[in-house]
Amino acid sequence: MSLSNLLKIMAIMTCALSTSTWALPQSNPVPGGIVTLKLSDKTELKPEAFYKDKAVMVTAHEGYWHAVVGLGLNTPLGYQEVRVNGKGIAFNVIHKDYPEQHITLKTNKHVDLSEADLKRHKGEKQKANKAFNSFDETQSPDFAFMKPVKGSFSSLFGLKRFFNEKPRNPHSGLDIAAPKGAPILTPSPGKVVLTGNFFFNGNVVYVDHGQGLISMFCHLSEIGVEQGDTLIKGQPLGKVGATGRVTGPHLHWSVSLNNARVDPMLLLP
Ligand SMILES: [Zn+2]
Repeated sequence: MSLSNLLKIMAIMTCALSTSTWALPQSNPVPGGIVTLKLSDKTELKPEAFYKDKAVMVTAHEGYWHAVVGLGLNTPLGYQEVRVNGKGIAFNVIHKDYPEQHITLKTNKHVDLSEADLKRHKGEKQKANKAFNSFDETQSPDFAFMKPVKGSFSSLFGLKRFFNEKPRNPHSGLDIAAPKGAPILTPSPGKVVLTGNFFFNGNVVYVDHGQGLISMFCHLSEIGVEQGDTLIKGQPLGKVGATGRVTGPHLHWSVSLNNARVDPMLLLP
């Protein structure tokens, strides 16, 4: 056997191995987590699932349909249910303590917004909502994500945030410290559903991985893709920067599932 054929077979084997290990994300029923629920035998028709009236991802795993549900940071603790073909399936949400983080910004521009900035932000929020609500049935998400940029985690998901000592929304993503210009790689295949320059998030790219699983990449120095582009895993989509509300260059990466921001770490090996 030639070396290239051997390498090809090894690549296929590695791929098969990673697919079986990472067919579903880690189930973690906490606010900001993901819960996976076994539904019915795969011989039956794919069920329809809803959580808080939003369509929920349903995917096949080991011969069964599973619902994969994102739980936002504001999810109440205790009994929750997903409606599956009109029937309730219960799960229990448990407490997770997220620490506080105090950040000092040089100016209050991004803390107390002017009327013009507030108006701008409201318009951008609508566009972002539309992107977070996209639900592409034709794409099957690949949960074996890779880290989108080389660097250390500088700010974890879920931190209770204070900017210039004023309480603001909790940290809804994961920050990775990297120098300006470092390439950002697509962590899992998807389609670009939105790009732009936003007040808080700076230059942004939104990627739809399928069935309500969306990534948002913020503070870019350069956007390298356009709305409608199909991206393969590992494809560069832009460069790390310091645009928007930042104290220095880094990548802020948010992951959304059924329009709930969840901890991106749950998708990393
Ligand atoms: Zn961040």
